[in-house]
Amino acid sequence: MDQNSQRSVADKPSNTVKEISIHELRKRIQNGERLFLLDIREKREIDTGYIKGAIFLELEKIREGVEEKIKEKDVPVVIYCGFGIKSLDAGRILKEMGYKDVYSLREGFEGWRAHGYEIESDSRLSSEELIRYSRHILLKEIGLEGQLKLLNSRVLIVGCGGLGSPSALYLAAAGIGTIGLIDNDCVDISNLQRQIIHRTEDVGKPKVESAKRTIEMLNPKVNVVTYNERLTKDNVLSIFREYDLVIDGSDNFPTKFLVNDACFFTGIPDVFGGVFQFEGQLSVFYPRGGGPCLRCLFPLCPPRNVVPSCSEVGILGVVPGLIGIFQALEAIKLLLGIGETLLGKFFTLDALTMNVSTYKAQRNPACPLCGKNPEIREIIEESPQVCEINER
Ligand SMILES: [Zn+2]
Repeated sequence: MDQNSQRSVADKPSNTVKEISIHELRKRIQNGERLFLLDIREKREIDTGYIKGAIFLELEKIREGVEEKIKEKDVPVVIYCGFGIKSLDAGRILKEMGYKDVYSLREGFEGWRAHGYEIESDSRLSSEELIRYSRHILLKEIGLEGQLKLLNSRVLIVGCGGLGSPSALYLAAAGIGTIGLIDNDCVDISNLQRQIIHRTEDVGKPKVESAKRTIEMLNPKVNVVTYNERLTKDNVLSIFREYDLVIDGSDNFPTKFLVNDACFFTGIPDVFGGVFQFEGQLSVFYPRGGGPCLRCLFPLCPPRNVVPSCSEVGILGVVPGLIGIFQALEAIKLLLGIGETLLGKFFTLDALTMNVSTYKAQRNPACPLCGKNPEIREIIEESPQVCEINER
């Protein structure tokens, strides 16, 4: 741009801000042209990366702060935001303030990134991770720190069935660093109607292997630890001690009570899920966090035949899908400490009517596990002969 055209802009101030394409900007940077690059995005957006050499000043602070940062008003200023909209507003402000050669970057930073142009980052995430998790990082409730928390979290999923499948997939997609999977069963063709982590070609293979492979295809960075064994009173504590939280995706009451008791003894949250035909239940059992445990509500494991199993009465496949996703959601909120969880509440869903209810679930001082005078002082195993219900 020659001196004359710059003068003509200054002589006839106009509200229109010139736009520059991302390709043109890159060419000018590569040619070493002198210009100021002004990034007006918020910090959580900058955390996902920025263009090298940028000066940072949020849109709201431009009027008070820009003259401090850019003293020479004759040098071209290229302003960018996320998509090239807010930068037009910022451009108008700069022109009002007497900056002579102001551009707004068309398509903004996201356009620059989409074209694969060089991005700088100060973060502890790789550039691939910054893109993969950018929609989390943009949320003020999560941000870069929250994503790092998820990447350092360890979640155990008990059961790779109807509840565990969607839970595992969403937790893997969310970037949970370590996901443990415990299940001693093999994939049966009747499972595929709802256990979406497995494929037809997996029939006959161990569920933990099939689930691990699907997770690794979705997010190869997740560390998947498999336990191709039954959860028992002998292995439960040593396994649970390795994790921050447990998703109970089991399909029988003895295991649900075992998970509850082991979570109590290791002091970690139990994200409980249950399904029956068209109904789903959900809660968070975590006495250390102030909520009840399963035994506060149901002191004893129900005897066999009181509650029929899915294989006897059927289950709509979508129902464990919904509840499993809710379990993943509760897990993420608990790990990040955001929002309100179902701690102290019991949630039910009727998929046929879409009626949902949330009941208060309080700690029971007479609870045999977490009450004042507990009878259960160590892990016990409810006899499967007495009360197992099994959908398989
Ligand atoms: Zn209790």
